Amino acid sequence: MSVSAAQIDVESLHDRFRRAAEAAAAAGVDALLVSPGSDLRYLLGADGESHERLTCLVLPAAGSAAEPALVVPKLEYPGYAGVPTDDLGVHVATWVDGENPHRLVADLLKGPKSVAVSDMMPALHTLAFRDALPDARQSLAGPVLRELRMRKDAGEIAALRKAGAAIDRVHARMTEWLRPGRTEAEVGADIAAAIVEEGHTTADFVIVGSGPNGASPHHGVSDRVIEKGDVVVVDIGGPVPEGYNSDSTRTYAVGVPGFDDVIDTYAVLQAAQQAAVDAAGPGVTAEAVDAAARDVIADAGFGEYFVHRTGHGIGLDVHEDPYIVSGNDLVLEVGMAFSIEPGIYLPGRWGARIEDIVVVTEEGAVRLNTRPHELAVLPS
Ligand code: ZN
Ligand code: ZN
Ligand code: ZN
Repeated sequence: MSVSAAQIDVESLHDRFRRAAEAAAAAGVDALLVSPGSDLRYLLGADGESHERLTCLVLPAAGSAAEPALVVPKLEYPGYAGVPTDDLGVHVATWVDGENPHRLVADLLKGPKSVAVSDMMPALHTLAFRDALPDARQSLAGPVLRELRMRKDAGEIAALRKAGAAIDRVHARMTEWLRPGRTEAEVGADIAAAIVEEGHTTADFVIVGSGPNGASPHHGVSDRVIEKGDVVVVDIGGPVPEGYNSDSTRTYAVGVPGFDDVIDTYAVLQAAQQAAVDAAGPGVTAEAVDAAARDVIADAGFGEYFVHRTGHGIGLDVHEDPYIVSGNDLVLEVGMAFSIEPGIYLPGRWGARIEDIVVVTEEGAVRLNTRPHELAVLPS
């Protein structure tokens, strides 16, 4: 099994534990039940895998008589040996096949009225918790923990900065791979290898949207052969060893673009992306940042071709809060990190997107991706 090693100092974890317990109390839940995934990694500095055997961090709300516990199958406990459970005051409760781990959690909590479970906890565990804790109302832990996870500390921002620099080095090498006569899949495989070479643990996603495929925002790769004159959307990212993710898009032209409208339309997109970066800062709402990009695109007549939100938060997950979207009146704060990635997608023809990760500072939004934003014209 794979448990990522802890790389966060005990003091930070201690602080996260305390704040999570307080946030749980403020949300009116008696305990958080955190299964393997990004929330567990955030709280414990280590992650594991969710499967039919229950692994669960039981984190009682502040003021509760119950103590924090890590319920883990005995055969998997060695993977968590690096977690500073003693320092964190976490009781380790191992269990073996044949025992009922959900009952074990119920015994530890002594009659909770409500529990918040990880957003991505498998249903086989949430339903087993319903049986083991019939009087406890279940809600999602995500809305509780996002109050912590949205506000990145210096170590987290350093990890995001490292991820940003690593993915920038991949974009800087695009001429090595992106050429006419090669398929998107061939180019994508080379990019994926480079994502790892440049310091990521894995290539989490690789989008090479050439020609008309660029007009499909979440196109992956295909066997389409890249042609001279194609506009190509390349959106790539993955985690660095600290667990924090990169995510950056640049749009390339393979030689002189094959459509007359590319240069002028791309200029609109570039202005929109810059407008959103300029608009972002402490005290500004997420939806105002979305509007800053959208207004530029709509004013130029392309509103209907910008078919997604302007951005998403990023951290241990590629997509997390805060979402930069119409209707989100969340006020941005120093330490929040998110993408600014407007796009213009012209069905059947071509598409373009520019994506940077930014972090909010007192002085405004600072880009963690610094590759040029101009349409990059590659040799053909
Ligand atoms: Zn996306
Ligand atoms: Zn993104
Ligand atoms: Zn992206």
